[in-house]
Amino acid sequence: MALTFKNRIALHYVLVTAALVALAYLVVFGVVRQQVYADLDRGLRLQAARHLTELYVAGDSLRFAHKGEWEEQEHQQVDVAPVFVQLNDAKGGLMDRSPNLKADQLLFHLTDGRQLVDAALRGRAIRQLQAPIRQRGQLRGYLLVAVPTEPARHVLDSLGSVLLLSFPVVLLALYGSAQWLAGRSIAPVVRITATTNRITRDNLTARIGLPPRPDELHTLATAINGLLGRVEQAVEREKQFTTDASHELRTPLAVLKGTLEVLVRKPRTPAEYVSSIQLGIREIDRLTHLVDQLLLMARFESHAKGLNRQELSVLSSVHDVLYRHRADLEAKRIRVDVEDGAVTTVVADPHLVDLILDNLLSNAVKYSPAGSTITVTLALAAGRLRCAIRDQGIGIRPEDQVRIFDPLYRSDALQHKHIGGTGLGLSIVAKACALLGIELAVESALGQGTTFTLLFPAA
Ligand code: ADP
Repeated sequence: MALTFKNRIALHYVLVTAALVALAYLVVFGVVRQQVYADLDRGLRLQAARHLTELYVAGDSLRFAHKGEWEEQEHQQVDVAPVFVQLNDAKGGLMDRSPNLKADQLLFHLTDGRQLVDAALRGRAIRQLQAPIRQRGQLRGYLLVAVPTEPARHVLDSLGSVLLLSFPVVLLALYGSAQWLAGRSIAPVVRITATTNRITRDNLTARIGLPPRPDELHTLATAINGLLGRVEQAVEREKQFTTDASHELRTPLAVLKGTLEVLVRKPRTPAEYVSSIQLGIREIDRLTHLVDQLLLMARFESHAKGLNRQELSVLSSVHDVLYRHRADLEAKRIRVDVEDGAVTTVVADPHLVDLILDNLLSNAVKYSPAGSTITVTLALAAGRLRCAIRDQGIGIRPEDQVRIFDPLYRSDALQHKHIGGTGLGLSIVAKACALLGIELAVESALGQGTTFTLLFPAA
């Protein structure tokens, strides 16, 4: 049977307290019993001391002096707490006894010293003291004093039953209060759960009310609220991305439609057709590129693409990318210096490394003026490969340097309207770097140039 959290707390609490209460009861009972017996024994010793002074010698044997008074008392009143007294000679033979013993005898034990024992008389439990009587160093006999232990036992029995009966009652009361307390303690958790359940994707602004005291529940609620804040931001970013992406997709479509509409309005010369169709093809290329990049992003998002890690040379990847962009480099007369001062193999996914370098190098080419130089430096830094791509291009404003990795964000786009782009390249780079564990950094000065640095993880 699965117990609720509340009942489980209550049960554990009750089990522990039950053990403690049982221990406390045992201690109480033991102490009371000890005390009761100590009182009995003290009484016996007092009686023995008194009777030892009331003896007289008759020939060879000893006798009690006040026997007459005792007998009288015996007739007049019923003694509720009788004291039985008896005298035995050195060998144990009976010499005298108190009248209340009638024909019975206290049991004699042959020992030298004093002795305190539990015994029985006429079927009733008694506590008995046996003390030697000496005169001038000679053993004359023994004095035996006894009292019934029934009253003491009665007290102990009642105490025992009270403790035994109260135990389950105390346990029940403890269980009840523990349950109540546990219920009270987890009430805030129940509230937190209820609020959390109410929060949906469309209602991410709701937050959990914070408990008044700065305790663990306060910390929990704060942590959940923090999480909600981050989720809300992520969803917000995603909505923004969808809006921006739709806008980006519509623009080339609108251009294409406009071009076609103009074309059909009246007959055109072949040259006009060709130029319009070329414009249309360029827009379709742009659209295809954008869709490709969006698909790539989506694939990263779902991590569907398993990583294919293998040893590869970053230097040859750089050369591959440069070779692919040779036409652009030649057209802009851009020189590329590759400074390779280190062993350049790393273990990574070649496709992703190519993607990263391609985006960074094509940006460097794209945002650099004609006749400038791009420098690629490969070096080891604390056992990790560092790849820096520096250009002498237009640079990025400091406030944009953090935002250029956001999807569809184009820094200062109006300033470089003539340079086409989707704003997706760097966010793809950032995602690929995150997957490969590469640290990505940017440094830039407006109008002077930009350096992107990749710090590969240690092999
Ligand atoms: P885009 O397709 O616009 O190039 P990216 O995501 O690759 O998209 O880059 C985002 C923005 O960062 C660019 O619009 C550009 O403003 C800026 N940027 C990227 N690389 C460079 C660079 N090497 N020099 C100057 N600006 C750059």
